[in-house]
Amino acid sequence: MEPKLFIDGAWVDAAQGGTLDVINPATERPFAAIAAGSATDIDRAVAAAKRAGKGPWGRTTGRERAALLRAIAAGIEAEKDRLARLEVEDNGKPLAEAEGDIADTIYCFNLYATYAEELDARQGEPIAVPDARFSTRVKYVPAGVAGLIVPWNYPLLMAAWKVAPAIAAGCTLVLKPSEYTPLSALELARICHEAGVPPGVVNVVTGLGRDAGAPLAAHPDVSKLAFTGSVPTGIAVATAAAQDVKSLSLELGGKSPIVVFADADLDQVVEWVMFGIFWNQGQVCSATSRLIAERSIAPRLVERLAEEARKIVIGDGMTEGVQLGPLVSRAQYDKVLGYMEVGKREATLVTGGGRPAGFNAGYFVEPTIFTDVPADARIWKEEIFGPILSVAAFDSENHALDLANTTEFGLAAAVMTKDIERAERVADRFEAGVVWINCSQPNFLEPPWGGMKKSGVGRELGTWGLMNFLEPKQITAYQSSEPWGWYLKNTQNG
Ligand code: NAD
Repeated sequence: MEPKLFIDGAWVDAAQGGTLDVINPATERPFAAIAAGSATDIDRAVAAAKRAGKGPWGRTTGRERAALLRAIAAGIEAEKDRLARLEVEDNGKPLAEAEGDIADTIYCFNLYATYAEELDARQGEPIAVPDARFSTRVKYVPAGVAGLIVPWNYPLLMAAWKVAPAIAAGCTLVLKPSEYTPLSALELARICHEAGVPPGVVNVVTGLGRDAGAPLAAHPDVSKLAFTGSVPTGIAVATAAAQDVKSLSLELGGKSPIVVFADADLDQVVEWVMFGIFWNQGQVCSATSRLIAERSIAPRLVERLAEEARKIVIGDGMTEGVQLGPLVSRAQYDKVLGYMEVGKREATLVTGGGRPAGFNAGYFVEPTIFTDVPADARIWKEEIFGPILSVAAFDSENHALDLANTTEFGLAAAVMTKDIERAERVADRFEAGVVWINCSQPNFLEPPWGGMKKSGVGRELGTWGLMNFLEPKQITAYQSSEPWGWYLKNTQNG
C-alpha cells in the first residue's frame, strides 16, 4: 500500500510529503508506511467533503444510501480474511478476535442500511401540538461535514461505528485513524469508493493526532465531531469544538467495576471476569478492570482467576491458539509495565507483573492480577488499558456500590449474582452508561453505547448513533383561515 491520503475520491500525497512507519507490535518491525497528514491536508479533505455535501449527495434518499451501505458491507465481506490479518499486523490482537471485529463491522454497515431506509419513512413525521390551527412536522437533515477521530484498539470497527451512521444520515466525512493502526481505514476508503460512494463523501487523512487530528477538530467547516479516545484528548477535542459550537460526541475511557456476590455461579464468574479484563489484551474502554468481590469468596475467586491467568497462551496474534497478543505500541507497553511496578508498591501481586519469559521482541506483557487493592491506589483509580485486574473485597451491597461508583469514569459496570432482585437494584444504582447482569462485555450494535461522567458525552450505536449525524428540523405551518389576531388586536384594533 502506497503512503497516500484518500481525498475527493483520489489517492494523494501529503502536502508536506512526510511519512510515518507502521510497526507490527509482535515483532517491533515496521511493515508499512503512511502519509503524515497535516493541517493543509485536512483543509483539502474538509473542502472536498463540503463540496460533495452540496452536490447530488445532499439530495440522496435514505434508500439510496442504504444500497451503498450494503455494497460497502459486501465489499468488506469479500476481503474479510485479508482485513482481519491486517488488523493483527497493525494492532497485535489474536486473529480470531480480529475476525470477530470484521464480522461486527459488516453487521454495522448492514444495520445502518436498515436505519437509513427507516429514516425515509420518518421524514416529515407529524408532532401533535395543542393548537389545531397549526400543523407541525419534523424533518431530519444531515449534520454537514463530520470529523471522525478514532483510536487503535478496534481500528476498523471503531471507524465503522462512525462512518456507517454518518453515511446513513447523508453526511460527508473526514476520518482520522490512529497513527498506530491506520491501514484498515485506508482499505475502508478504497472499499467505499469501489462500492460507488461519490468522491468527497468519504475522505481519510492519516497522521499524528497533533498534526492531523487537532486541525480536524478545530476546522470551522466541520459541523459535527465524533471522537473516541482518551479523556485528555477528548477534553482537547471538546475545547476545539466549543470555539465553533460544533455538535460533539465523545466516547472516552473507563475503569469499569464488576461486582461479584457470594451466591454467583463461580465457574460463570471466572469466565466473565477473565473475558472482561484479558480480551483484546485488556485494551478495551469498557474492560471490567476492577473486581469487587464479596469478602467470603474473594480469596477462592482470586485463586481460581490466577490459575486461569497462568494458562493464557501469549504470542503473536497470527499464531493459532494464541489468546493474548502484544500491546499495540512501545508507548502502551512502557505505560502498562509502569503500572505493574506501581501496583507492586500499592497492593499484593497475585500473578504476572512483567514481561513473559522467552520473548525477545514484541510488546508482550503477562496477564496480571493484584489483590487487596486500596481504593486510593493509582491502579484502582486510573485507566491502565492493559491486562491488569485489580481486586478489592466488599462487606455489604452499599459498600460494593460505593466502591463501584467512586470513580471519575462511568462507561460500564457489571454485577454477578443469582438474586435477580438484587441484580436489578444494583444495576439501577450503578453510575454507568452500560450495565451487564451476569456477564461482562457482550456488545450488540442496536442499543445505545456510551458513558457518564468523564467517560463521554452522547451515545453511539443504534438509532442514537444515527441521530448524532442528523439535525432535526421543526416545520410549523399555520393552517387556519382565521386571522391570527395578535398584530391586529394590539396595533390597529387594540
Ligand atoms: P488517544 O486519545 O491517544 O487518541 C485517539 C485519537 O485521537 C487518535 O486518532 C489520535 O491520533 C487522535 N489525537 C491525538 N491527539 C489529538 C488532538 N490533540 N486532537 C485531535 N485528535 C487527537 O487514544 P488512544 O490511545 O488511541 O485510545 C485509547 C483510549 O480510547 C482509551 O482511553 C480508551 O478507553 C478509549 N476508547 C474509548 C471507547 C469508548 O467507546 N468509550 C472505545 C475505544 C477506546
